[in-house]
Amino acid sequence: MKIGTPTEVFEGEARVAMTPDSALQLQKLGHECFIQSGAGQKASFTDAAYEEAGVTVLPDAATLFDTVDIVAKVRAPSDDEAKMLKSGQTLISFFNPAGNTELLDLCKDQGATVLAMEMIPRISRAQKMDALSSMANIAGYRAVIEAGNNYGRFFTGQITAAGKVPPAKVLIVGAGVAGLAAIGAATSLGAITYAFDVRPEVAEQVESMGAEFVYLDFEEEQTDGASSGGYASVSSPEFREAQLAKFREIAPEMDIVITTALIPNREAPKLWLEDMIASMKRGSVIVDLAAEKGGNAEGTVPDEKIVTDNGVTIIGYTDFPSRMASQASSLYATNIRHLMTDLTPAKDGVVNQNMEDDVIRSATVTHGGEITFPPPPLKIK
Ligand code: NAD
Repeated sequence: MKIGTPTEVFEGEARVAMTPDSALQLQKLGHECFIQSGAGQKASFTDAAYEEAGVTVLPDAATLFDTVDIVAKVRAPSDDEAKMLKSGQTLISFFNPAGNTELLDLCKDQGATVLAMEMIPRISRAQKMDALSSMANIAGYRAVIEAGNNYGRFFTGQITAAGKVPPAKVLIVGAGVAGLAAIGAATSLGAITYAFDVRPEVAEQVESMGAEFVYLDFEEEQTDGASSGGYASVSSPEFREAQLAKFREIAPEMDIVITTALIPNREAPKLWLEDMIASMKRGSVIVDLAAEKGGNAEGTVPDEKIVTDNGVTIIGYTDFPSRMASQASSLYATNIRHLMTDLTPAKDGVVNQNMEDDVIRSATVTHGGEITFPPPPLKIK
């Protein structure tokens, strides 16, 4: 099949869904690869590098959409892009099918098959295709780098001839994929790192990465807010009060707070409140990785950096993976390549849209002129 990647049209998006390396792998599956001229430029992949990897460079998006059987993208298509999709053509990209119903309808009406990357089930077999995780890993790491860029002091403690430097204290709220990556980055820079999550089972992971798990003064075992399937649910009012009380107690000591707390299909819980921000030291930094879902910190403005009256910087950027476009593209393109491996079981360049396969079925949100979202429950948990 012919698989091709256009330049991302979403403003500021620097990632690209195919790299020269991923193209080499796709060709081993029997596919022919195409790229729009300049699509990889912001991620440091030149047209020449693609050509060297056997990729055909096409002049514009219209030609690309017209040429290929499978369009691989990062962001959900714009309306104009969706209108270029043809019957029988496949689109693979992030899509947010629950929030993008009109776009879903449009793709269905075009007769295209759409595989939404965020719908890849989070089961062991599909980890190599899990773009939510690969991007969250980057976001967590980059959040620490961004915090450091805005924090006027060292992370690590030092004793120098010019004086003693205390280590920075970093709190990570939410120890999922992004939170664990942030812990890794903060501890490796030498900060004293603390982390909190409503799921107590992550305490061991947090501690194994050299951070201290923040336990609550809560009568019952710290299990409230945890639910099955590895995701959080809404906390009880009592648990939430205990959590906020603990945060209030430690806020004045923290130099950097990175919040990553999310509950599936809900607005992000507000956990770092105005009074906590007001009690933080001048020069402290909050990076709110939940900004896109409304933010964990009060006062977060999505896509902006603000400084409060008491000198606390609150960063609400929502494009952390794009800020590391080269790395993010490599990992995302690898996720797509693994999905293509599942879609091409005979490695003969022929796609088998096997709707009996849990991973393919879950990811497929339109197929055969029908909307196939939401998917049925997984056969294998
Ligand atoms: P997420 O982005 O949905 O949430 C981030 C974190 O916020 C979670 O750890 C959650 O417990 C935490 N949180 C929610 N409410 C909170 C609150 N009030 N206070 C503090 N923390 C709060 O989560 P994620 O990073 O996508 O990962 C969730 C789980 O899924 C993890 O257990 C992870 O290991 C698992 N996972 C499994 C796979 C796989 O098996 N393929 C892949 C990715 C993730």
